Amino acid sequence: MIEVAIRAKSFAGGAVLRDIRFTVAPGEVVAILGPSGIGKSTLLRIVAGIDRDFAGEVTRPDRLGMVFQEPMLLPWRSAAANLMLVHPGLGRAGALAALTRVGIADRADLFPGQLSLGQQRRVALARALAGDPQALVLDEPFASLDPATGDEMLALTGALIAAARPATLFVTHSAAEARRLAGRVLHLGGRPATIVAGGGDA
Ligand code: ADP
Ligand code: MG
Repeated sequence: MIEVAIRAKSFAGGAVLRDIRFTVAPGEVVAILGPSGIGKSTLLRIVAGIDRDFAGEVTRPDRLGMVFQEPMLLPWRSAAANLMLVHPGLGRAGALAALTRVGIADRADLFPGQLSLGQQRRVALARALAGDPQALVLDEPFASLDPATGDEMLALTGALIAAARPATLFVTHSAAEARRLAGRVLHLGGRPATIVAGGGDA
């Protein structure tokens, strides 16, 4: 279960988020939909516990996986090594199994610079899921992919989430993506941003 009750979040430049309350139950997929610059990544960083400088309360399970807006792989480590660094218990066999689930086990020994953006995003998704997370947060994981690749990634992500059933929070600026992946869509709007539609559960 993810429980979010943010009263306010500001940067030096001003207030970004205000009064954002929602919960994500285990197995539920909630999308946060909003235009670029509204505060989606800021909200996800707070939910993930990376940014603790805000007014309010957020609770999340111990095991949380995150897919960042950029794949965020170490360029000097192979795909398999990138997984093993974050999950030392996996070993090579576990890393290969995780890469198999995202369809790129044959790329395990290549470095991020030798992978397409779509393949890098698959590695990032495998890394997020490899720890068997109780909560999964995804920041525009299909952005900048060509339509066919984005579509394939969306289907793959949906299938993996359906199998593992973490509490999933998914951020996107695409209403179509939000509808396809999520059971519930929360719209962020205004400045500072708040939930302008789809809320009301918390
Ligand atoms: P989104 O992910 O919806 O595109 P962000 O959460 O990245 O939006 O950014 C929301 C707003 O907060 C933007 O105006 C951005 O410039 C500002 N912002 C984000 N991170 C920082 C930071 N570390 N310092 C100052 N301002 C920031
Ligand atoms: Mg963002």
